[in-house]
Amino acid sequence: QAVFRSNLSHLLELMGSGKESLIFMKKRTKRLTAQWALAAQRLAQKLGGTRRDQKQVLVHIGFLTEESGDVFSPRVLKGGPLGEMVQWADILAALYVLGHGLRVTVSLKELQSNLGAPPGRGSCPLATPLPFDLVYTDYHGLQHMKRYMGLSFRKYRCRIRVIDTFGTEPAYNHEEYATLHGYRTNWGYWNLNPKQFMTMFPHTPDNSFMGFVSEELNETEKQLIKGGKASNMAVVYGKEASIWKGKEKFLSILNKYMEIHGTVYYESQRPPEVPAFVKNHGLLPQPEFQQLLRKAKLFIGFGFPYEGPAPLEAIANGCVFLQSRFSPPHSSLNHEFFRGKPTSREVFSQHPYAESFIGKPHVWTVDYNNSEELEAAIKTIVRTQVDPYLPYEYTCEGMLERVHAYIQHQDFCAAPGPAPPGARAPESPFILAPNATHLKWARNASLVPGAWPPAHSLRAWLAAAGRACTDACLDHGLICEPSFFPFLNSQDAFQTLQVPCDGTESEMNHLYPAFAQPGQECFLQKEPLLFSCAGSSSKYRRLCPCRDFRKGQVALCQDCL
Ligand code: UDP
Repeated sequence: QAVFRSNLSHLLELMGSGKESLIFMKKRTKRLTAQWALAAQRLAQKLGGTRRDQKQVLVHIGFLTEESGDVFSPRVLKGGPLGEMVQWADILAALYVLGHGLRVTVSLKELQSNLGAPPGRGSCPLATPLPFDLVYTDYHGLQHMKRYMGLSFRKYRCRIRVIDTFGTEPAYNHEEYATLHGYRTNWGYWNLNPKQFMTMFPHTPDNSFMGFVSEELNETEKQLIKGGKASNMAVVYGKEASIWKGKEKFLSILNKYMEIHGTVYYESQRPPEVPAFVKNHGLLPQPEFQQLLRKAKLFIGFGFPYEGPAPLEAIANGCVFLQSRFSPPHSSLNHEFFRGKPTSREVFSQHPYAESFIGKPHVWTVDYNNSEELEAAIKTIVRTQVDPYLPYEYTCEGMLERVHAYIQHQDFCAAPGPAPPGARAPESPFILAPNATHLKWARNASLVPGAWPPAHSLRAWLAAAGRACTDACLDHGLICEPSFFPFLNSQDAFQTLQVPCDGTESEMNHLYPAFAQPGQECFLQKEPLLFSCAGSSSKYRRLCPCRDFRKGQVALCQDCL
């Protein structure tokens, strides 16, 4: 049984010391202790007496190991990416506060001593049992584990969770398919269940959304901040000077209305990319950066970095976030940053989560090439008052709730066994909506005991040609849920939909199950690892499994707790 913890001092010891990255993470954890403790109290109340099993958890942060080059630690004090460290610090805190047994490793040596004796020559490698129920790591860490564990890696990989900022789509994850169809990258093809990859934002429902937290304000602080805002103060998003390149015109427009501040790292002189009229504070310690956001009215994105934590922090501190729309959208096909990442996702603005999950009045997404649109937006923003806002899923309680649900319910080791005893296929598994495109799963949830999310939250749609399931579900205010694909991958499902299949074939294709209009052919998915919410083709109408979600907690369905 796991017991909530509110004193984090032992966690700080577990995190080790020495590296700048660890110092940054520990400072953050220390600062957030009171918030975590309060969140634990609230979640404990919400869950009542629900039993929570205590798991033994290993967290192996691969990118911080010397063996993987540890390029981040030396950059912590120079404005390098801090988002990853924010997320790892919060993952550690969440696991610890939830009461699990925790080990943290940031070197290969530590990893090895925690995994137990290496499989020696002549001995049976499978004989070394993995002493952890769960292992959280990253792509670097996967390599380390595979190298060290040898054959037993296969056996235990279902216990691994991969922290993967931008996500891994199923087509890239399946080794054979990726190789045959041009989806092979430096990262993917591990043949994991795609839900084992955990992202920073809920952008790819094929993966699990892990997230991080942003500091929360109480009512008194909110009022204080609202009263203390300097209405003409803007802070530019970006710690690295290169982000400011080519932004002279934008800055001169903005400078007409606002006093511009920056937090760009510099060594001795002002970086040439940052104009003299900008008040540059240099890279600030995280609490001072928060203070700056509390005074500012506007936080401005210049298009990079993509999908970081800072805009959420700005919005939580009562700023408006202004960002550029990308047209055409950026993706691994046309942008260096995404090239080689195991996803085809198209990004329509610097921070799609802010745009679609938060939106106005907190977030303005405009065309920066259109000076009139930009100027009009700035003028309106200066005049409007906006309350601080933080989506529930980015609060400590929201993150604890989500991680708790994953730990208690996600099991990728269980073999997809035969139908449970007593279960029988219902005569009519679907209820047909009048327009014959919407199916509601009417099967009694008790027929699929233990399924998570529970099967009764399934809503199925036959998407329009060329539409991905991710989007088709969102069109209906729902989210795509890949674990429901098996329920739809049958001739039965097509029949109930009254899809006129001239023939049905079963093949490996990440767009299946789907209906191909020319030829009237129905296609079933042959390889369960390829079930994918992402992906579309004008040739196919995809059969999509959607589900509802909790307000402010998109990772969880209404009955998922
Ligand atoms: N940050 C900071 N000092 C600064 C600017 C930002 O400590 O001067 C922190 C900020 O609070 C955020 C983190 O850096 O939590 C990562 O921010 P960003 O969104 O820029 O993402 P990154 O590109 O670093 O992953």
